[in-house]
Amino acid sequence: MKIGPEIGDSLELRFSNIAHAMNARGEPIISLGLGEPDFPTPPEVIDAAAEAMRAGLTRYSNPFGLIELRQAVCAKLASENDIAARPEDILVAPGAKMALSLALGALLTPGDEVIVVTPCYPSYAPQIKIAEPDAVIRPVDLRKQDFGLDLDAIAASLGPRTRAILLNFPHNPSGRMMSAGEADALAGLLADHDCAIISDEIYERLNFSGARHVSLGARPKIAERVITINGFSKAFAMTGWRIGYLVAKGPIMQIISRLQQNMNTNTVPFIQKAALAAFDLPGDFLDDYNTRLKTNAENLRHIVSNSPGLHSPAPEGGLFAFVNIAHTGIGSDAFATGLLEEHGVAATPGIVFGSEWDDHVRISLAIAPDPFAEGVARLGAFAERLRAG
Ligand code: PLP
Repeated sequence: MKIGPEIGDSLELRFSNIAHAMNARGEPIISLGLGEPDFPTPPEVIDAAAEAMRAGLTRYSNPFGLIELRQAVCAKLASENDIAARPEDILVAPGAKMALSLALGALLTPGDEVIVVTPCYPSYAPQIKIAEPDAVIRPVDLRKQDFGLDLDAIAASLGPRTRAILLNFPHNPSGRMMSAGEADALAGLLADHDCAIISDEIYERLNFSGARHVSLGARPKIAERVITINGFSKAFAMTGWRIGYLVAKGPIMQIISRLQQNMNTNTVPFIQKAALAAFDLPGDFLDDYNTRLKTNAENLRHIVSNSPGLHSPAPEGGLFAFVNIAHTGIGSDAFATGLLEEHGVAATPGIVFGSEWDDHVRISLAIAPDPFAEGVARLGAFAERLRAG
């Protein structure tokens, strides 16, 4: 395989690693860098995995996934996403990330263009290049003021070689959700373009906006071409378990399944049983989680509104907020380094989410309210010191 500079180490982890090292030296750090919940996997999920292991679910199994899990995913898609899918439209993969890799591998041929809505999850570009080194990535930025979709810019990037457009809402890093109006407008725009629409909805259940999550796979004009990516890692504190799934209609699923058979064989069956148990967790599990995220989002709004120059449109879902630090006059890497070394707060530099986003830093909402508020207050104070010069 050709490993070019686009396929680098996972940059997002760099600052968190420095923070962990400082912690280990006894220098306490507030980590706003992590992309995962700060609490353990629920015991019901762990028990289901242990039980399934003892029951012998430790052998090779169906490459698409256990039928009971695929049926549960179909029921969820029907009731929560308005997506009509059959179990044969679902493939369970070792993580949403692998589901995305399989979809890209099945879709792309040399010279194909992929529109990527940026800022975006730092693994998208490497994943595209791993799937097809000669694919062309066309980044299209969200609007800077509110992280809304820029439909004119997307329209300008669509062309005869466009093979796929890759979007993610609730959005990493901004916490923006897609509105029904935006989804309709996007579906209208893409109706006449024969490209796949990859909708990464991994943060779907982390939604404190009060609005219903919008799935592109439910838009009739494009539904047959939408590949929905989702999983269990973020919502159920299962990041290390590696389990996700994709929903795809038509012949592409045959290619995806062949990749799965030859790359992964199947997803670990006892972990699939654990995922099934995660679906059955009582509703207040996610309600409590979303309440904690919302508390931090509100604290952030309060601190930002009292910090001249700092901007961050209120996050609505997902695990993060993206804070504009343009007024400080320094780049995001230098800002994040200074914030960590001088104030003991780890954040992720915006530059890792796209070249146009060096005037932002990403912070995680997934920590307890007190250290979160303290971390953001220190961030505000540091930005103010830089601004005052
Ligand atoms: N998609 C986005 C937007 C993410 O932020 C992440 C993880 O950070 C993933 C996919 C990968 O999820 P998983 O851990 O389920 O593979």
